[in-house]
Amino acid sequence: MQSAKCKMERGGKQIYTSSVGRCCCAAQDFRAERQLCPTDEVVQQELRPIGGAAPLRAGTLYLVATPIGNLEDMTLRALRVLRECDVVAAEDTRYTGQLLKHFGISKPMLSYFQFNEAARSREIVERLKRGEKIALVTDAGTPGISDPGERVVRSALAGGCRVEPVPGPCALVAALSASGLPTDEFHFVGFLAHKSGRRRRQLEAVKEVPGTLVLYESPHRILKLLAELVDLYPDRKVVLARELTKKFEEFKSGSPAELLAAMEKRPARGEFVVLVARPCP
Ligand code: SAM
Repeated sequence: MQSAKCKMERGGKQIYTSSVGRCCCAAQDFRAERQLCPTDEVVQQELRPIGGAAPLRAGTLYLVATPIGNLEDMTLRALRVLRECDVVAAEDTRYTGQLLKHFGISKPMLSYFQFNEAARSREIVERLKRGEKIALVTDAGTPGISDPGERVVRSALAGGCRVEPVPGPCALVAALSASGLPTDEFHFVGFLAHKSGRRRRQLEAVKEVPGTLVLYESPHRILKLLAELVDLYPDRKVVLARELTKKFEEFKSGSPAELLAAMEKRPARGEFVVLVARPCP
């Protein structure tokens, strides 16, 4: 078992990891099966990942979720798909290159970042049609959720290609699950537009949604969003989920005015998910 204590930097942000060994997860997986199957004969048969490790299928786009901060959140299946695919399509090849290096994986990569998505999407579809197995990775979390992966997925499906999710970390699910707000019904807003008028209209349009609202926001606009919530949603409970899975993870709840006052006292650093409670009945 190798020790893998490391820190990764992305755009000045620290990606957090602990000193857990790289290979221990596989060992734990097998141990779990051993408890279920105490006889050695059965254990021999069961020494494979739970659910069976089917070989990757030709011509498939695998949407590989990656950590949103804590590298221990990488799943065993994500690692296997990254090891066994033909090519990794990444939002940022430098960043994903570091991630692959951390896990001892060496793979050809191609970038599909925002400004060449259309051309790259076509290339990805052509490669899939030739039978390549492609792992699609965004900078963090689940590809296709508020990131450029969405367009690649649509192109692949429109081209008649197979798309398979490899689930794992996702900021919206992590934030919602620990927010304490109702999870039975929620509405994912994602990022609001940048222009003030449009943002306001978007926020007004979801006012009567009978579920928890979940928004993504950048640190540059978090104060602006809280001020908008003070105006439009003054009586709702709001939860700010910051730096999820990282060293300085924090959940703060209160009225929009309370949170705005608290946030104005210190620089808004890190990544945020903002959750707004549903309207009172
Ligand atoms: N595909 C990603 C996912 O599965 O959540 C989301 C990508 S989107 C480009 C990035 C936004 O997700 C950030 O601006 C922030 O709102 C949210 N986010 C990502 N990582 C986060 C984290 N560790 N803590 C809080 N929010 C995070």
